[in-house]
Amino acid sequence: MTSVAWVEGTVILPNGLLPNGIVLANAGKIVAVGDRVKVPKGAEVVSAKGRLISPGFVDIHVHGGGGADFMDGTVDAIRVGCQSHLRHGTTSIFPTTTTGSYEEIHAMIRACQDAKLSTIRGVHLYGPYFAENKVGCHSVAGRRNPERAEYESYFETGMTRIATCAAELPAATEFYKAARKNRCFITCGHSNASWSEMKSAFKAGMRHVDHFWCAMSSVPSVRERFGTPMQGSMTEFVLMNRDMSTEVIADGEHLAPELLEFAYQMLGPNRLCLVTDCNRALDMPIGRYRFGNIESGTWLESDGNVGRALSGSLASSVVGMDSMIRHFKEVTTASLSDVIRMASLTPAERTGISKKYGSLEVGKSADVLILSKKLHVERVFVSGVEQII
Ligand SMILES: [Zn+2]
Ligand SMILES: [Zn+2]
Repeated sequence: MTSVAWVEGTVILPNGLLPNGIVLANAGKIVAVGDRVKVPKGAEVVSAKGRLISPGFVDIHVHGGGGADFMDGTVDAIRVGCQSHLRHGTTSIFPTTTTGSYEEIHAMIRACQDAKLSTIRGVHLYGPYFAENKVGCHSVAGRRNPERAEYESYFETGMTRIATCAAELPAATEFYKAARKNRCFITCGHSNASWSEMKSAFKAGMRHVDHFWCAMSSVPSVRERFGTPMQGSMTEFVLMNRDMSTEVIADGEHLAPELLEFAYQMLGPNRLCLVTDCNRALDMPIGRYRFGNIESGTWLESDGNVGRALSGSLASSVVGMDSMIRHFKEVTTASLSDVIRMASLTPAERTGISKKYGSLEVGKSADVLILSKKLHVERVFVSGVEQII
């Protein structure tokens, strides 16, 4: 296989920018990064003059795009969803389940397996184990408590790499332990957990909380469960525990700028991930769509900026990771390399794939983006091969 060299652009590294840098790949892997790299004769040279050379994005929480929800459970839906996010720079993707039936979740996992896409790094088992009063825009009928036989069958597929469960559900601890045994990154989401429930979850291996401030507990919401004295919630637990990470939906619709700045200042770029939490309405006309499975999912309305349930409450995003980085960069004090880190290396580290993915460093897969100065995706390469977007 030939060598590929990305040249004359500003290379975005995890700790800063390298102006006029060169990234050299051979057989799909990065072999050199620097400003004095010798480009071998016969190498394919990609000019990034006046542009940025960025690592491909890693999305750990994403439901679909281009009209398809991963829960549609067909190979075609998986391909369409992943391709639509590839267009927005996501080269490592964890298709994410919603609540749904046992059969629907298995169909989704099987389709991810059968699609054999080079960008799928595993499935995020997100629904169905949510707290009853924190289901959000997901179908209530598809929610349930964890049952060993059921979740073991998902783990046995070998595809599940991220596992979510609300910490206050009965047998949540057993779920976390089984997930840990199966080498999953373990998260707590759609939950009204108290400090002590978070503490036991942490002991069982939980290390992350889904979409900070959305469908999660706060001191007042925990007070509704336990009265006084007021107790700590997921919020305080994440902020205080240095081994915990979380994620934000930075589409400008879910969270105001000060909350993005707050999360960045409090957690830093190594503990905060950007996710899209995007539904099937990405790159689709304004209109009504199903969140989750095409037949049993709930309805949402996309206005082109965000999804809303018919009740008017937020129902996940309708934009790609490129929109998230543009918005985060625009409204916070985070440096460009920190913003990109939160959309690439940090989620890769948290999910255990950073040896191969997440940054432009020697030995890793040559998943490279050419971005315009205004952070629009112009060209996408996976393992050194240019993708048709
Ligand atoms: Zn959610
Ligand atoms: Zn979601």
